Amino acid sequence: MKRPGKVKAYLIDIEGVLVRDKRYQPVNGSVDWMNRLAASGRPYCLVSNNTTHRPADLIADLAGLGFPVTEGHLVGALSLGMRWLRERNRQNIRWLGTPALADFWREEGFGLVREGACDAVVLGANPELDIAALDGVLDPMLEEGTDLLCLHRNLFYLDGSGRRRLGPGVWAAALEALQGTGQVVTVGKPAEGIYQEGLKRVGVAPAEALFISDDPISDLVTAGRLGMHTAFVLSGKFPDHGVLARMAEADWPDIICSSMSDLDIQEEETA
Ligand SMILES: [Mg+2]
Repeated sequence: MKRPGKVKAYLIDIEGVLVRDKRYQPVNGSVDWMNRLAASGRPYCLVSNNTTHRPADLIADLAGLGFPVTEGHLVGALSLGMRWLRERNRQNIRWLGTPALADFWREEGFGLVREGACDAVVLGANPELDIAALDGVLDPMLEEGTDLLCLHRNLFYLDGSGRRRLGPGVWAAALEALQGTGQVVTVGKPAEGIYQEGLKRVGVAPAEALFISDDPISDLVTAGRLGMHTAFVLSGKFPDHGVLARMAEADWPDIICSSMSDLDIQEEETA
């Protein structure tokens, strides 16, 4: 699908695009490409479903690798989830995401409830999630109408050893099938809100934005449907384009390339 118009801004996924996986080693050429992008004057932001790092740590790690990024560049599912909860005065949550972020939630003013009633059940990536923790949310969801907040719905991700791990999208689908009386809400990709937030951050219309990701299903379908240009890079979850066979042709990305360094950067025109 060809969309008219020049690319004026870039919305960029982190894992699989800037870095390979949870080991956070840069993809070849990505540090240079990002520095050329910064020098071009085109606005950009990082649209990330990362729910395993504190935002400040995530940015510090990337900056330490040489990427030209600050916290102002990050549009993250974790922050959007916290905002969703605060706007509704939901303070006490059942956190099913990584225990490594438990202290971060507490520092941000949330109470983590281990049993009994809570204001929301919150899902993030968690390689240690066990059945007992999932069983523990059955009563709130089935008896008390507690909402399920999915920070994102990625079906799988690559862990610190590059191994595929089931993601919150799988657990969200399982819990949604229970048909509890509360709502199921998603704030990260593929829900629209995080894309709109990214566009607002870079200040362009969808047709002027290019979304770059290694996940054509969880990340690029929504970007394309919103009218953005889309680029699928093969430097992360999928080593080839075979995954497209599982998608409707109308949702295929505009560009497929081995990594972001194959993409042209359009220079800011001087008026
Ligand atoms: Mg990714």
